[in-house]
Amino acid sequence: MHPSSQTPTSTNTMSWSPASWRSRPIVQAPSYADEAALAAVEARLHRYPPLVFAGEARRLKTRLAAASRGEAFVLQGGACAESFDEFTADIVRDTFRVLLQMAVVLTFAAKVPVVKIGRMAGQYAKPRSSNTETIDGVTLPCYRGDIINGPEFTPEARIPDPARMETGYFQSAGVMNLLRAFAHGGYANLHQVHRWNLGFVERSPLAARYQDLAHRIDETLSFLRACGFDGSASQIDETEFYTSHEALLLPYEQALTRVDSTSGDYYDCSAHFLWIGDRTRQPDGAHVEFLRGVQNPIGIKVGPTTTVADLEKLLEILNPKDEAGRITLISRMGKDKVRDHLPPLLDAVNRTGRTVTWLCDPMHGNTTTTSNKIKTRSFDNILGEVLGFFDVFEAIGRRPGGIHLEMTGQDVTECIGGAQCLTEDDLAGRYETFCDPRLNAEQSLEMAFLLAQELTG
Ligand code: PEP
Ligand code: MN
Repeated sequence: MHPSSQTPTSTNTMSWSPASWRSRPIVQAPSYADEAALAAVEARLHRYPPLVFAGEARRLKTRLAAASRGEAFVLQGGACAESFDEFTADIVRDTFRVLLQMAVVLTFAAKVPVVKIGRMAGQYAKPRSSNTETIDGVTLPCYRGDIINGPEFTPEARIPDPARMETGYFQSAGVMNLLRAFAHGGYANLHQVHRWNLGFVERSPLAARYQDLAHRIDETLSFLRACGFDGSASQIDETEFYTSHEALLLPYEQALTRVDSTSGDYYDCSAHFLWIGDRTRQPDGAHVEFLRGVQNPIGIKVGPTTTVADLEKLLEILNPKDEAGRITLISRMGKDKVRDHLPPLLDAVNRTGRTVTWLCDPMHGNTTTTSNKIKTRSFDNILGEVLGFFDVFEAIGRRPGGIHLEMTGQDVTECIGGAQCLTEDDLAGRYETFCDPRLNAEQSLEMAFLLAQELTG
């Protein structure tokens, strides 16, 4: 049945406002003791300038719509949780650079534009599987991300502090400013492709593969110059780079919501793209209600417990007019489940004729804990899920929309395996994540080359 011929659900007919989520059941929300302090921060944030513009979010929607048709490929990546302490130019640059390098590898293979979206400039709030954390018999409230409370294992740090929202806003603005400078100020110029130094990846066999690709791009650009094309065009001199985070902390998201003067529609101007996590996608819940009314492109995590009925309901609530590019479904099944759990959901969406962009998040269904209680993910399992995901799409003759990774440009040791063959024993070396384990720069680039094989193969 075409969506527009369905009767709208009761949820849909109710009026929306930036605050309407407040009358819905909410999960994963901190409770702030000082309501007056919270209200004061919300009021200030509401007056501050937006971090992104509605027009940019609309342009991303058109890019995502192209990815839904197989005419573009999405690369979404960044930290599980950004941290207030890691607010440095180097950290931002290194992640940005690896994403650019991966995008070059993927563009070359897929022969379509790669849509680059960072989990950056606002990825500060985390859903947790438990409300508490116990260490050596001491139990404290869990850490919920730097925009809510602190990671230190002390009672004081774990108290939700509304002032952190304002810090989150200013740090997002700082990261956003640097990303815009990198994307448009010359750093991302394709003529520089061989100068984006590989850092520690220089020592890896991947470096030669990357330099070879950079050389081919240089040759292509020289050839075009010889043909009379002067080598400058916005597609070559700069890049489009978008930001995203999980829309978890709704007082913050509401405070950053603005009416766009061009369209008269509401946009959540904290990031271009916002997603709903696997733990907060209840159709009648607060998070779905909030995202229903903002016109940004939005993501929905789709896990092993998502049913066809849930998904159909969410699509009807969140995209009643079936606007292309509005919904990105981010599948995070786990490598052993993706081949069984994804096809019925994919079929159901295809049967209703709805337009969605499917991404594979091969991280969140493949987290394990070592005997020393360290959270990790194996490169092979991550790759296993990616291959399973691609196979499911190949079986229906479609190209998937893209990939969603937790990664960093730093030389961390958080995921095992990859070309460096990191083992459980190596994890202690540079385990720096505040939440989930990320691919390091080398593992990320390796993943891009393996994905490239799938896209050409
Ligand atoms: C995440 O993307 O960091 C996350 C928590 O994912 P999920 O909601 O899919 O578990
Ligand atoms: Mn995560």
